[in-house]
Amino acid sequence: MAASDRATLLVRRVRAAVRIFCRHRYKKKWATSFAAPSPPRLALQYFDVNYGAQLGSLWPSVRVGLLSEQKYGALINNFSSVEAVTRRLSDLSSTDLLQEARGVVADNPGMMEEASAQSLLTSNLTCFTFPRGDISRFPPARCSALGLLEYYLLDAASLLPVLALDVRPGHRVLDLCAAPGGKMLALLLEGCRYLSANDTSISRCNRLRRVLQSYVPRELRSEDRLRVTSWDGTEWPEEGIYDRVLVDVPCTTDRHSLLEEENNIFHRLRMKERQRLPLLQSQLLLSGLRAVVPGGDVVYSTCTLSALQNECVVERVLGLAASEFGIHAVVQDLRNFRDIFRKTFNFYQESRLGELVLPNLTANYGPIYLCKIRRLR
Ligand code: SAM
Repeated sequence: MAASDRATLLVRRVRAAVRIFCRHRYKKKWATSFAAPSPPRLALQYFDVNYGAQLGSLWPSVRVGLLSEQKYGALINNFSSVEAVTRRLSDLSSTDLLQEARGVVADNPGMMEEASAQSLLTSNLTCFTFPRGDISRFPPARCSALGLLEYYLLDAASLLPVLALDVRPGHRVLDLCAAPGGKMLALLLEGCRYLSANDTSISRCNRLRRVLQSYVPRELRSEDRLRVTSWDGTEWPEEGIYDRVLVDVPCTTDRHSLLEEENNIFHRLRMKERQRLPLLQSQLLLSGLRAVVPGGDVVYSTCTLSALQNECVVERVLGLAASEFGIHAVVQDLRNFRDIFRKTFNFYQESRLGELVLPNLTANYGPIYLCKIRRLR
């Protein structure tokens, strides 16, 4: 082949190669080619930035706890066959955290005078937990001969808001955000005179009704003892009639957000809802303060570490309640809880307002934030 022909052939081949290259060339479209981070991943990024700054050197261990399997407690159903189930759970080497707490109070007579210690001494609750470092699980609850389930599995730290509320037998109690009903059941076990359980979500209220049917005898579910409503707690119509109010608000539910795709508040379509949480929480707490009688107590609680959803909400609402409604309320000291429950839970030692249980691999409960507020007038 002549040199000129070879040159022509080469040019043709190069042109063909360029055509093929151009046909298959693509422009990187960053916005569409790369999947948005999943809600749990987004939650982790968000927590790393915010909780890293908030908790400092504690964050790495809290982070590992949050990403690991949570520990549960077994809240004994006093309406079932208590003795039999207590024996069975003791045989598993689990112990009653309330019994241990009472032991701590008995060993420190100085504590006895404190209101938080008094509430433990009068509490009817029994909750079994495995010791620190023991990650055994409780078997599913069985039905007792009376047809009621023997215990309710829950994050044992979620009983602290109920204990802080110090419910007594004659009390009228409001649980403003009650579903699915773990704390409501604990309130009923404490033996209040009347419980109003509310949750705006109708489907979650149905779950709450199932909890009631499975754990509470029919005679205690009568209208004069118990009311279940699905009202919007931010527009609560009753004022100054409850002795105790639990305001266990919706929040970023940190554990759930890190581990579950479903119903995750970090989904990009729920960004506005997430940003509005502190406002919703403030409105709910304000409703709680308006619903309680002067001299009565409100406990505000969440299952997030976020200071913006915890103490910042409390601070803002105390100011608003005074300026807009003439309601004067003060935060009650619960620091005693840190000593009383130190065997079971890890408390954040630097809380400014209220108490915060931090997750930790040796005692993987929480996060649970609680703040007790007394309405003065
Ligand atoms: N206290 C419950 C328990 O121990 O099982 C958990 C409550 S959960 C943290 C928060 C609840 O608040 C959700 O069930 C949600 O449906 C409810 N909620 C959200 N917005 C509300 C509102 N405006 N009024 C009343 N309840 C509301």
